[in-house]
Order: sequence, then structure tokens, then C-alpha cells
Amino acid sequence: MAKIYDRINIKVTLSNENQQAPILIGKGVEPGENVREQLEITLGNGKKVYVIPSTSIKGALRTIAYNILKHVAGDPDSNIFKENIHRLASMLHTEGVSDDEKSNIYHVPKDLSKIEKTDLEELKKQLKKQLDNESILKMLYSIFKEDAVEFNEEQATFKPKIDLDNLDRCVNDKKCREVVECLLSIYCPLCRLFGSRFYKGKLNVSSVFIDPGKVARITRTHVAIDRRRLVKQEKALYSDRAVMVREIEMELTALDIEEDSPEERLLNLVLDYMKEIGIQLGAGKTIGYGYLKARSIDIDRLSYRDLSEELEENIHRLLGKE
Ligand SMILES: [Zn+2]
Repeated sequence: MAKIYDRINIKVTLSNENQQAPILIGKGVEPGENVREQLEITLGNGKKVYVIPSTSIKGALRTIAYNILKHVAGDPDSNIFKENIHRLASMLHTEGVSDDEKSNIYHVPKDLSKIEKTDLEELKKQLKKQLDNESILKMLYSIFKEDAVEFNEEQATFKPKIDLDNLDRCVNDKKCREVVECLLSIYCPLCRLFGSRFYKGKLNVSSVFIDPGKVARITRTHVAIDRRRLVKQEKALYSDRAVMVREIEMELTALDIEEDSPEERLLNLVLDYMKEIGIQLGAGKTIGYGYLKARSIDIDRLSYRDLSEELEENIHRLLGKE
């Protein structure tokens, strides 16, 4: 039987309710220039276009998803999670500065006493349950090798090498902690969509290109304020050259998202948010730059079988070898 793949294509038309919206994806201020220009690239045919890079769009979507996730993880009535471990992983998902983490996104707190006792017991139970699952063990083996899992070649069996009975001791051990981190990121809907340090996320975002011939520019001059002393900085006048857009089209693709999974539900909430409240792209948040709302959202879910396998089956059938 051929494997079935899923692909969700999403097209979001963003606008500022029939008004033009200033957008500025800065390319950094040249020394001594004091002008912040819109990022542009030159295409193969020599034509210059303004670009809103996929990374900017993904970052803005991620911020929305993070705020939603934090909200729903604390809501006992929320129905976006299917199993308790999804809620626990979401609750523990943290973004911020930490000293010894490879990434500033993590789930395992330094101090387990910060987790409520009933949640901690449940977390222990759920994590231990994962170690009974062979596909999880295989995955841990592929990432951590013998640090986490013992592989018996003769019997082709996997056995966990980490002890989650004493979770306190485990999180104080660098390797064990990393395994728990990985297990939680597997069940975190935000990490599944946007990626964690162990795997790539399922959501792909395309860059948006804007034809310079079709948009106006506006220049605004600002005075830089020293935020600490609340006074004007000397020689701190600077200008923004924003692009005025009427409408842009955002294209997202999600691969292999299980129907009705927590990550699909989170993605749908992000899309709803863009429709109801909007999204902010690029610089100038405090001066109202980059605010757009989804005017329309088209979602196409495609399921397709692995064509190479299907082809093979057809050939076998043709040859009478069914
Ligand atoms: Zn996460």
C-alpha cells in the first residue's frame, strides 16, 4: 500500500481595509546615513523587487502562535489538545534568554518545583509512557545514539537507557535533560509547526515580492529618543522609507499535518487571528507600520499517494505479477 501524504496550501490575502499600509522591512542603516530603506533584491532578469523575506513572515506568524499557545495552555477548557502531554508540552514551551541552552526555546525548566505537583506527576507518567513506544525509541536513537537508547542488533530491539523515575536527577544531567527536551518538543504543537532544535517544522512560508513600479514610498523622519533618559539624542534624526501596499498575498504550505491534530488546530487559530485581529510585519510596530488583516484565506488540503509506489504497483499489475 502506497504511503499517503498530506499537503495543505494556504493563500492569505492581507490588506489594510482598502487603505494603503506602510511596510518597512529594513535592510539596516548604512553608517552615517540615518536612512532606513526597504529591503530589495535583484532578480535574474535584472529587475529589482522589494521583498518581505519568508523569515520575517514566519517570525510574525510564530509570535501570534506563541501568544495563542500560552493562552490555550492555561485554559483547562481548551480543546486544542488531544492528549495531556500536548497540553503539558505547550505549557512548558518557553522562549527567552537562558544561559546554557543551545537555543533560547526550551521546555524543561531548571527547577521542577516551578511545575505544579499534579502536573509534574502527570508529566512523569506521560514521559515514561513514551519510552514504551518503539518508534519514539528509534527516533531518540537516531538523534542521541547510545546516550539515550540501547540498540540490540541481533534482536533488533531498542531499550531506553535513561531513567525518568527520578526526574529531578534526570534534568540535572545534561544528556538526560536533552532527551526529555526532545520528547516534549515532539508533542509541542508550536514546535511541530515552526520547528525545534531537533527537527524542522512543518510550516513553510514563501517570501513576498512587491513590484516597485506599483507601490508608492513614503519618507518619515523620526527623532530617536534615549529611552532611559527620555531625552532627544544628539544628531539622532533618522528617516524611514516605507513601501505603501494595498494588498499582499502570503503563501504557506504545511506538509504531513495530521487532520485535526493539535498543530492543525493551532494553525487554524493563527489564521483566525489574522482575520479578526491582524498581523504585524516588519519594523515600526510602535508607529503603526506593517499592520495588515487577512481579507480572505483559501485553504486547500491535498492528499496524495506516493506516485513512485503507485507506478510500481501499476507496472506489476501490467506484468501480471499482482
Ligand atoms: Zn515547543
